[in-house]
Amino acid sequence: MLTTLIYQSQSEAEFSDLDLINLTIAACKKNKAIQVTGILLFNGSEFFQVLEGEEEVIDLLFCHISEDQRHTDVVELMRDYSAYRRFSDIGMTFFDLRIADKNTLVDEIHQLDHVQNHHLHDDKIFRLIKRFIAQGAWHRPSCGLKSAQWEMVSKKESRQDRLWQTEKGVLYTFALQPIVEPMSGRIASFEALIRDAKGRSPGAIFSAIPSDSLYAFDLQTKAIALELAGKILRDDEKIAINLLPGSLHTIPNAVAQLTAQISQANLRPEQVIIELLETEVITNTVDFHKILKDIRAAGIGLAVDDFGSGYSRMSFLSKIQPDEIKIDRSLIQDIHKMGGQQSVVVAIVRYCQDMGINLVAEGVEKLEEWCWLQSIGVNLYQGFLFARPCVDGIGEIQWPVKKHHI
Ligand code: C2E
Ligand code: MN
Ligand code: MN
Repeated sequence: MLTTLIYQSQSEAEFSDLDLINLTIAACKKNKAIQVTGILLFNGSEFFQVLEGEEEVIDLLFCHISEDQRHTDVVELMRDYSAYRRFSDIGMTFFDLRIADKNTLVDEIHQLDHVQNHHLHDDKIFRLIKRFIAQGAWHRPSCGLKSAQWEMVSKKESRQDRLWQTEKGVLYTFALQPIVEPMSGRIASFEALIRDAKGRSPGAIFSAIPSDSLYAFDLQTKAIALELAGKILRDDEKIAINLLPGSLHTIPNAVAQLTAQISQANLRPEQVIIELLETEVITNTVDFHKILKDIRAAGIGLAVDDFGSGYSRMSFLSKIQPDEIKIDRSLIQDIHKMGGQQSVVVAIVRYCQDMGINLVAEGVEKLEEWCWLQSIGVNLYQGFLFARPCVDGIGEIQWPVKKHHI
């Protein structure tokens, strides 16, 4: 299928005019052989390229391009299908923005478009081209946050307490995973994740519970999580617990029961955050309104979990005003390479900053992801890069540290 791919990148080396001519000639020859059109823009430090061709060919070519040592920070901005070839000029056309006349440049690129009489000139591709001409690459990580300058250094926390509860012969406990603020070296909170004696995941545990006792099970097991937290948390640390909304609105006095569990564990309500899934929070407005009031009145915090994974009703979110939003891993994974994810997350960061909401990036696994997110103002992180969930307590935490020799 015909595919258009657009990326931006940073030039790594100094390119002389001759280098650029040679690069264009080589790319032109290669693209002709594989029936690809390339339109390459360069502004002295950044590249922007439109590629058009068959999907498999473009995929392979983009893999090669991404590995090319002559540029870094390759970010995919657009990948789309089209019904017909837009650019007839197979090969490669190069525009050097330092010498091109910016007023006529877009027209020149239009000339390459062989469906010119179409209304397409105001489409997404041309808007992206115009944006690059005017502003250059976007969302670049700040120079102090290049992943090569950082390394992860491990620090043992080792706080543990064995706490199990039996439910019809099966043992349940919780694994804790820290949510960290790397720039201050602070642990902001811990999330409690349910486990059984075999270490099975919550999905497997919940599917084995009869549906009529699911909510009661969910609520009752929180006592284990809170007791564990009460034993190992410091005074200024918080514990986040997951609850199905049903566990809060179908069980009478659910929030009162939680409050009792909290005080039994010697915790303060302000130390507890309830995480509710975005999908469930958003779809059940009436029930949710009552839950919200109860939680607020009890002084417990509220986080919207897995934000961005479902269909968000933004108007509703703006009314809830949670204390915390946790961005789903699907938006975080490989964010340093994906322009679409970057723009969405930048908008979420802006919203949370405006509204005083804590923002947590979930499922961070790579140093590059952290560098990118940190440089746009995300301060709180949860993910395997920093720490894995640890049954019955807290294990090792990795902190990013700037390498000395750089
Ligand atoms: P969640 O609340 O989004 O919790 C984070 C999940 O992501 C955890 O999976 C955690 O192990 C995993 N995770 C953390 N960092 C990374 C990472 O860097 N990469 C990847 N690939 N995964 C990471 P877990 O423990 O399997 O929990 C899955 C879900 O089960 C939780 O997602 C939560 O929605 C639910 N859950 C857990 N405990 C409870 C509970 O007590 N009650 C309810 N109702 N739901 C629970
Ligand atoms: Mn959660
Ligand atoms: Mn989550």
